[in-house]
Amino acid sequence: MRTYRRLVKHVKPYGGHIVPFFIFTLIGVFFSIFQFALIIPLLNFLFNSHSPAEMAQYATLPNFSFSANYFKSLFYYEVYHLKTVNAVYALYFIAAIIVATTILANFFKYMAQRSLISARTLLVKKLREAIFGKINRLHMGYFTKEHKGDLLSRMNSDVFEIEAVASNSLEVLFKEPWVMIGYFAALFAISVKLTLFTLLVIPISAFGIAMVTKRLKKEAQDMQSSIGRLLTIIDETLMGMRIIRAFNSTDFILKRFSRENDFYRRASLSGFKRRELAPAFSEVAGVMVVAGILIYGGSIILNNKGASVGLEASAFIAFIAIFSQVMRPAKAMVVAMGNIQRGEAAAVRILEVLETPVLVDDKPNAITMPTFEHAIEFKNVSFGYSDTPVLKDISFKLDKGKTLALVGPSGVGKSTIADLLPRFYDVNSGSIIIDGKDIRDFTMESLRKQMSFVTQDIVLFNDTIFNNIALGKPDATEEDVINAAKIANAHDFIIQTENGYHTNIGDRGVRLSGGQRQRLSIARAVFKNPAILILDEATSALDTESEKSVQDALDNLMEGRTTLVIAHRLSTIKEADEILILQDGKIVERGSHFELIEIEESIYRKLTLMQKIA
Ligand code: ADP
Repeated sequence: MRTYRRLVKHVKPYGGHIVPFFIFTLIGVFFSIFQFALIIPLLNFLFNSHSPAEMAQYATLPNFSFSANYFKSLFYYEVYHLKTVNAVYALYFIAAIIVATTILANFFKYMAQRSLISARTLLVKKLREAIFGKINRLHMGYFTKEHKGDLLSRMNSDVFEIEAVASNSLEVLFKEPWVMIGYFAALFAISVKLTLFTLLVIPISAFGIAMVTKRLKKEAQDMQSSIGRLLTIIDETLMGMRIIRAFNSTDFILKRFSRENDFYRRASLSGFKRRELAPAFSEVAGVMVVAGILIYGGSIILNNKGASVGLEASAFIAFIAIFSQVMRPAKAMVVAMGNIQRGEAAAVRILEVLETPVLVDDKPNAITMPTFEHAIEFKNVSFGYSDTPVLKDISFKLDKGKTLALVGPSGVGKSTIADLLPRFYDVNSGSIIIDGKDIRDFTMESLRKQMSFVTQDIVLFNDTIFNNIALGKPDATEEDVINAAKIANAHDFIIQTENGYHTNIGDRGVRLSGGQRQRLSIARAVFKNPAILILDEATSALDTESEKSVQDALDNLMEGRTTLVIAHRLSTIKEADEILILQDGKIVERGSHFELIEIEESIYRKLTLMQKIA
């Protein structure tokens, strides 16, 4: 239960629906019990079981008092009064009251359900939003550790699991105890002795509960994480379909999937088996108790001792009718306890996401970054994703309007430097200064607003070309988007597509060529019109011809901006104002292209010779 309370804290407030639910439920329960209690007068009336003395007692209108006795007397007064006119009228009266209480009972039950549904749908909506919101705030490092499929399953099947708990178990736990209390009160009112006898059912039900809930949590955990792994396999397969086919790896993937699927089946099987067993078990136990009551209560009545212990045949029948109803909430509670255990596993998995600390966040007094004016400066920056340092004591300065290039072997930390600037990660030591202020003093939004990224991994969304360029700006004008596309050399191919700017480009832009996709991402960068530009191997995945048109687009984009560029092909960075050569996480050479090739033994010179650039 503590887990659920922790979860609810993240999705507050939705209590507005719970209070009416509670009230409606109580009223509904009251009328339900009333319905069953009506069996007694009906039977008494039909079998004429009241003595003339008792009937005389009901001959006058009772004095008003707010008690069960008053209503009972009033009821009998009406019945007997009508009977003197016409016996069938009395029957009409009883039938009308039964229909009226049933209508009321169901009306309040329905109202209670409505409140519950509102609370439940709101809970699910808020839960999804909380998880999605959190995922969007988490630092980038989180996503390299967690599997995508696992996150998807937490957002989907774990939330469904909570919804299931919220929809039936919560209802059961809020409502059924009251139903049980109500029924038991009625039972006690009819016969204390018989009711004590029925309490035998409690330890038997408790045994049923224990049997169901045992190990359910662990099984649910296994099932949910298995779904996560299944989703990961599906996601990877969909993404890598070409490679899987080309390498004839379909069997391999099928086996992997089948193994995981089998694990899921086994995890769910034993839980389901046990769950099916429990209600059967408790029903048999319940009927055995009913049989006991029949023998015990029936023999009292058969021996004609009913009147002496205050148990009439009509009351006995009502007792059994009500007792048979006690079994239903008891059973529902057994099932609900099982669901709650399963749901708890889901709640834990959701909480793991919701309670992951946000390592990169705005300071409480963060300020909006003013327009970039002078320079970006890395001061003795060191950083590692884990304990292994990736960057060691990196210092450099990039003045406004200049271009700085990072060169070095793969894995040396170039992209890491680029990722530190928009605070995808925070430095471990040292600082990054923009116009004299540490970037951690700015709000991340204002910092990122002044930067655009163009990377080798082109990220496009399954949406129109227009929306991909104007990403996240629904109020963008057609004119601005077209201008950006023109600067990015993308306009010509865009207008040749089926619906021009309103063509949907498919999943991750599959309907476009590599060069076209890159020019779209450049158009997006142009559209944002940032002061600072980060180009990470933007042309390295392209063939020579598309590289030329993309490079032209990049040149247009870089004009008048401050650029940090990473490139394998040195031809693309010849014009940079400063080039930094990195090795083992450190800067080992720095200077312009011409300065560096002048140095006899420079790494840069060797690299240029290798790539035949003079
Ligand atoms: P480059 O851009 O120079 O090729 P990167 O900056 O991408 O190099 O990577 C530098 C080092 O950091 C590499 O050893 C790489 O394995 C490691 N690395 C990169 N990204 C992550 C990450 N998200 N989590 C852990 N290690 C990472």
